[in-house]
Amino acid sequence: MNEQSRVSELKGIGAKTEQLFRKINIETIEDLLMYYPRTYEIYEKEIAIREVKEENICTISGEVIGKVQTVQARGLTITTAMLRDDTSTIKVIWYRMPFLQKQLRTGTWITVRGKIVKKKGTLQMEHPELFVPKERYESKRNTMQPVYPLVNGISNTLMIKTMKQAVEYLELKKEILPHELRMKYRLAEYNFAMKQIHFPENIDAYVLARERLVFEEFLIFILALRYRKGIDEQQKNAYCFRNKNEVEQFISQLPFELTASQKKVWNEIWEDMTSEKTMSRLIQGDVGSGKTIVALLALLLTCYNGYQGVMMAPTEVLAKQHYESITKLLQKKHIPFSIELLTGSMTAKQKREACARIASGEARIVIGTHALIQENVTYKELALVITDEQHRFGVKQRECLADKGMTPHVLVMSATPIPRTLAIILYGDLDISVIDELPANRLPIKNCVVDEGYRETAYSFIQKQINLGHQCYIICPMIEGSEAIEAENVLDYTESLKSQLPETITISAMHGRMKQSEKDDIMERFGKNEIQILVSTTVIEVGINVPNATVMMVENAERFGLAQLHQLRGRVGRGEHQSYCIFMSNSKSKETKERLSILNHSNDGFYIASEDLKLRGPGDLFGIRQSGILGFKLGDVFQDAKLLQKANEAASELLESDVNLEQPEHQLLKQRLQGYMSHELLEKTL
Ligand code: ADP
Ligand code: MG
Repeated sequence: MNEQSRVSELKGIGAKTEQLFRKINIETIEDLLMYYPRTYEIYEKEIAIREVKEENICTISGEVIGKVQTVQARGLTITTAMLRDDTSTIKVIWYRMPFLQKQLRTGTWITVRGKIVKKKGTLQMEHPELFVPKERYESKRNTMQPVYPLVNGISNTLMIKTMKQAVEYLELKKEILPHELRMKYRLAEYNFAMKQIHFPENIDAYVLARERLVFEEFLIFILALRYRKGIDEQQKNAYCFRNKNEVEQFISQLPFELTASQKKVWNEIWEDMTSEKTMSRLIQGDVGSGKTIVALLALLLTCYNGYQGVMMAPTEVLAKQHYESITKLLQKKHIPFSIELLTGSMTAKQKREACARIASGEARIVIGTHALIQENVTYKELALVITDEQHRFGVKQRECLADKGMTPHVLVMSATPIPRTLAIILYGDLDISVIDELPANRLPIKNCVVDEGYRETAYSFIQKQINLGHQCYIICPMIEGSEAIEAENVLDYTESLKSQLPETITISAMHGRMKQSEKDDIMERFGKNEIQILVSTTVIEVGINVPNATVMMVENAERFGLAQLHQLRGRVGRGEHQSYCIFMSNSKSKETKERLSILNHSNDGFYIASEDLKLRGPGDLFGIRQSGILGFKLGDVFQDAKLLQKANEAASELLESDVNLEQPEHQLLKQRLQGYMSHELLEKTL
């Protein structure tokens, strides 16, 4: 048996369990080993019975007093024992374990670890893990027991049993990192790391293990990225930009004054586009900071100098919105450039016609989804490519354009504050501009975090806003009802809301499973205030701009990441009206409350990202709450920024000394890399 063996070769894995494993993409032992614990349980010191607290998980020892009883209730077998130590007594109950009645004789000393709950006013311990004799607990003290992500049908115990077997086969696996590199960066050996990440002997071992695995994960990713990119030299500026007078004039005619940040970025863009090298710039600006107008200035500059410009958006809805608002603005100012929209949902005929106008150069500004670059679109004099709300402009797209003989200027706009290190890894030599202020006319959004008891009040508040002519978003985590997950869903929610609010209010549902044309239609009607309340999943998260919307209500807010919630909130407060954000959560967890209160007290995306980090902080060793950027298995680009930096250095050193990884000590690494080249993570990044 080796790492490529199927999990079914392990003991206790029958056809049915194999099927369950397959559902979570575990087919081989190697896949299994990469299924890391979500967190760990630490077997802490025992406490006196008198000190137990409601809702806590704790360990106590005591003597079984009286008779242990087993009764049938609600179809369950319940076994009850009374436990006594020097300080107090407590009732302990187990479900479906009638055999305990014989095992737990009066007078035996036992140790139990479980959750304390209050029943009819008194505290009891429910369904604890049992240790007889006491030494058995002592041997586990301070060890960390893995808790795996929950899968229906696979219990944690089964996962642990299976994983223990898998870890035994580890010895077969060879270390892929060269010895020298491991020494230099003080990285633990692979087999040690793998064992310790699943079954840490103690915290220190865990930290070493995790560092090693995260480092490896980052290193492979960076190496693969470098290979795919090739040597990415900045190209010479092939375009000539002579003047910006018309654009300056356009700026002076805007209904608002640009913020100082916007002006600064506009200047940087002008300098880039007239410099020797092609522009490659990332604009980071919080939601609502006004990135679109800056993009438009760059597009106009391009047009006035005789070239074509492209703006790509991540969704059709957003592309369409950009198209409409830019068209309107240019018409109003009598600016003569023709704008073209190109998206996947257009008919073949429409696409053909649009492409013809782009190819002939009649279309000067082209707006669309990523298909714009990937599909066979021919450009006339393409000089600028902008991507909106996208933290990467794909190397693939750049290659694609270069193949067609074009080396346009590139502008990437994002509301996600990605760490600089990561930006450099992803984009190479990229310049970064930050828009760090909001337009002056904005009133700060008013926030509140509330529980379900507030829902009625929230609804009447929403009605009042609608009476004032405003609109509202309500976000639910799910599309439809599910038995497994208890959370609001768009479909049922919409129906129930319709029955609660007057018929004069138009309420519509939107979610990712709808056809593009349906979503477009809904967004269009929402944009015109034909719909007052939009109940939606996070499909509206990115970029949508309806300044008339003033309320954002998020159901089950605890189910979303802070950055995501902040993005959602960014859909309101985009005009001069006072806007409100209601985070609804019934979670009792202290952590959740703390997390949500960060949002409650700040509207600043960069601050939120950093606070989120602090909260998780170095203390959160287990990296449970990942920022989700790029979706590494263990690594977190925020939390592990230092490791990312080191892995980047290591990658450079490796390639400097052995560019094709031909030396014998690099062979295993090379093999691994080859397997990774088509990895989903890499595909997403390029
Ligand atoms: P984002 O940075 O999230 O993409 P947008 O570019 O969509 O934000 O801008 C949000 C809103 O702010 C738009 O309605 C836009 O017209 C407006 N806006 C942009 N810049 C300014 C400004 N300097 N003053 C006032 N409003 C502005
Ligand atoms: Mg935007």
